[in-house]
Amino acid sequence: MSEKRYYQPEIETMPTEQIKALQSEKLIKQVKHVYDNVPYYRGLMDKKGVKPEDIHGIEDLYKLPFLTKDDLRDQYPDGLVAVPKSECVRIQSTSGTTGRRVVAFYTQKDIDLWEECCARAIVAVGGTNEDVCQVAYGYGLFTGGPGLNGGSHKVGCLTLPMSSGNTDRQIQFMTDLGATILCCTPSYAAYLGESLKEKGISPEQNTLKAGIFGAEPWTEEMRRDIEKLLGIKAYDIYGLTEISGPGVSFECEEQNGMHINEDHFLAETIDPDTGEVLPEGSKGELVFTCLDKEAFPLLRYRTRDICVLKRDKCSCGRTHVRMCKPMGRSDDMLIIRGVNVFPSQIETVLLNEGYSPNYKIEVDRVNNTDTLDVYVELTEGQFSDTVKAITSAEKSLANAIKTMLGINPAVHLVPPKSIARSEGKAVRVTDKRKLHD
Ligand code: ADP
Ligand code: ZN
Repeated sequence: MSEKRYYQPEIETMPTEQIKALQSEKLIKQVKHVYDNVPYYRGLMDKKGVKPEDIHGIEDLYKLPFLTKDDLRDQYPDGLVAVPKSECVRIQSTSGTTGRRVVAFYTQKDIDLWEECCARAIVAVGGTNEDVCQVAYGYGLFTGGPGLNGGSHKVGCLTLPMSSGNTDRQIQFMTDLGATILCCTPSYAAYLGESLKEKGISPEQNTLKAGIFGAEPWTEEMRRDIEKLLGIKAYDIYGLTEISGPGVSFECEEQNGMHINEDHFLAETIDPDTGEVLPEGSKGELVFTCLDKEAFPLLRYRTRDICVLKRDKCSCGRTHVRMCKPMGRSDDMLIIRGVNVFPSQIETVLLNEGYSPNYKIEVDRVNNTDTLDVYVELTEGQFSDTVKAITSAEKSLANAIKTMLGINPAVHLVPPKSIARSEGKAVRVTDKRKLHD
């Protein structure tokens, strides 16, 4: 992107010491707000013997109890809401990827701050009021569409509120209105890219220049694929409904980790087994404390996303700490024949070996032994090969996966278009072992 730009320069480039002082000041107030207004969390604090007066700044954060997704499910739908309902203006809800949905409440201020975070992300990829921003994340309960929509308005882009799906219409509006920024899940971006190719629209012919893709894990290999398919720069964005939605963190032009909006969200990484706080730079479970949220102010919320925080200087000038791509949640991790496997590791191998990002993984247990089946779609070009060539390609891909994971999968190369496409978050793993338990 051209010159360096920020949506809120004073905040985004604030010296670290100053951000920490700001966080401390906000934390003290926030703990009091939660203690006074959320009986459930007050109960957790009382049980741990900690009072709001014990929190003098971020150095005391470790004293506070954690919240988990189970607490949120237990308190469904509104047990953690900290303001009168009359002050709430909206709810959003999780996608329910890993179980019962969680409902998050927002005041108007909560919405404004969330949209500002998304606006920071859009400006970071070069967005201005000259841009046409196509929002192809789902609208409705899912936070993707509403969040980026609000951010796009704040930047002053011409916003195309497409929502997900209806690929022909996406391509028609993209072309007719000259969309320059595309926001959707990475799996849908790849699908749109393929569809453009089929229609004979080359990467140079489309008007896009950047994409903001998130809401699901994706690998660097997938990024390169999408960048080539669409002829754009592809940037990552991260968030979760519990903490607000997309824009908790976002990538800058460096494309090397996502800056966490530290003025609003205080991040820690912990050992997921012991709960011990880890030093910045070690891999652990990401935990967030909301510093400004009024309606749904979670403190020390365990995301189950595994990643690393780094505070080294970023050449974009932003000072906020960066998080690496979370490569799967602790509960996405499959244990197959005693080996820890993240679906993203398999994706890396597939794309490195020249296959498409259209795949699915099936785990089962046969005669007390775990089985791993990987289905990978061939492209039209690859499919014309002979049966013999396909069998040998399956073997060589199985070997590459075995080298990465240490376990032997059964690889099935399947015809083009035979694996269902996702318009929102991709569902890639079926663990049939759960059905037998
Ligand atoms: P659900 O937990 O039901 O999927 P959300 O829609 O709120 O609910 O999704 C939030 C989760 O999505 C995050 O906790 C994280 O696991 C995943 N996620 C969001 N953005 C990214 C990203 N850029 N990279 C990897 N995972 C992401
Ligand atoms: Zn940066």
